[in-house]
Amino acid sequence: MTKTYDAIIIGTGQAGPFLAQRLAGAGMKVAIIERKLFGGTCVNTGCTPTKTMVASAYAAHMVRRAADFGVVDNGPSSVDMKLVKSRKDAIVGQSRTGVESWLRGMTNCTVYQGNGRFESSKEVSVGSERLTANRIFINVGGRAVVPKMPGIEEVPYLTNSSIMDVDFLPRHLVIIGGGYIGLEFAQMYRRFGSEVTIIETASHLAQHEDEDVSTAIRGILEQEGINVRLNATCIGFSRRGEEILAHVDCVSGDPEVSGSHVLLAVGRRPNTDDLGLTEAGVAVDKRGYIVVDDQLRSSVPGIWALGDCNGKGAFTHTAFNDAEIVAANLLDNDPRKVSDRITAYALYIDPPLGRAGLTEAEVRKSGRHALIGRRPMTKVRRAVEKGEAQGFMKIIVDAQTHQILGAAILGTGGDEAIHSILDVMYARAPYTLIQRAVHIHPTVSELIPTMLGQLQPLADTAGAPR
Ligand SMILES: Cc1cc2nc3c(=O)[nH]c(=O)nc-3n(C[C@H](O)[C@H](O)[C@H](O)COP(=O)(O)OP(=O)(O)OC[C@H]3O[C@@H](n4cnc5c(N)ncnc54)[C@H](O)[C@@H]3O)c2cc1C
Repeated sequence: MTKTYDAIIIGTGQAGPFLAQRLAGAGMKVAIIERKLFGGTCVNTGCTPTKTMVASAYAAHMVRRAADFGVVDNGPSSVDMKLVKSRKDAIVGQSRTGVESWLRGMTNCTVYQGNGRFESSKEVSVGSERLTANRIFINVGGRAVVPKMPGIEEVPYLTNSSIMDVDFLPRHLVIIGGGYIGLEFAQMYRRFGSEVTIIETASHLAQHEDEDVSTAIRGILEQEGINVRLNATCIGFSRRGEEILAHVDCVSGDPEVSGSHVLLAVGRRPNTDDLGLTEAGVAVDKRGYIVVDDQLRSSVPGIWALGDCNGKGAFTHTAFNDAEIVAANLLDNDPRKVSDRITAYALYIDPPLGRAGLTEAEVRKSGRHALIGRRPMTKVRRAVEKGEAQGFMKIIVDAQTHQILGAAILGTGGDEAIHSILDVMYARAPYTLIQRAVHIHPTVSELIPTMLGQLQPLADTAGAPR
């Protein structure tokens, strides 16, 4: 027998549970379906476990650096990977059970466990159950891409999910992909004690960043002994006894990298392939992302797509914001939209990169008249005092409107300090608002007004001032 609801939500990632609460709170009868782990990627195999492990890696790093701070550490220190993992598992477990019990205890909300699949535009099956609703919300997230590289099926490999079960130290971790996920794992495992090699097909790491940012990131990682192989082509794999060989054609360096373990970090794909979207008539693009409008409505009236599966964002905060947008439109008569959102994210290497708005390259490409301010972290007293003066910050301002176009803070506290810039961008206020604000000393943020007081015309690629 088909059960009727006011709303069905497929997936309990970063959008589904909040939306369930809003809809159920408004009196709707809601069904929410989860096929695997409550809380989705961020909680189980993404943000939470990685940042928990980044914290363990930071502790290991600081123990090694103790003498730099006058702290004498006479005993040999070591990293116990079983303890690192159990700390991570405990923190992840708390979050996951928190999401599950929140949903199970929610008035007007019924939880279904199993694979949700469209049978038609108004019907979803979960195991032997059939559910129907006039409003269906897809929040199915994504998973790691396993690239069709020669030999990939012949070697064991890890992804961001399976590496969560690792409770030992890989002797030599070869990471395919120098994007955000690959870089976080690279530094983390290097700090735990593994040899680490990153193999990246692009000409620079974190390829969406400006070249100066990416060069500085590379410097930080190489200083810690991470091997970086760029411009890699013809990547393939084979085995030699216990060793995994990654074959690679680079401008320089050996044509073979021999490691004990391989981590694939070459991107993610949406979980839309086994969802019955054809039966529902929901349009996807050629990469499988559900096509949505600015208010996250799919091509079928009554079906919305939120989070990573719509290709409009790839972060927890964008997925959560998707839920806010849908709830505002449906319940609050507030026409919020995706295009109100300013790009913002962090890369959690140490020191972290906080980013907001356009990159310098994007501003240059747009051809607009702009001003730029830069400051090395060696000129940020707080960073020097903490013994963490790697990196730099920069900010770009529209020369006519004086609005901030974008910023990058690669440095200690950069993931937090970027928010003072982001909030002024949301306010669409002129940069002088921050420039005249009195920030607390000593902080990283206090140098943002100083940097804004020293803006220069942004030279174009040929070096001429704009
Ligand atoms: C290693 C790593 C680190 C990351 N770090 C960060 C970070 O620091 N900050 C940040 O903002 N973002 C980070 N992200 C990205 C972040 O995890 C995702 O952007 C976020 O989880 C997307 O949320 P979502 O709700 O779209 O989907 P998900 O969190 O992926 O949730 C989707 C849920 O739907 C379920 N599901 C899928 N198909 C079905 C189905 N047919 N039926 C029922 N249930 C289904 C899945 O089991 C899953 O629980 C990281 C990602 C990775 C991989």
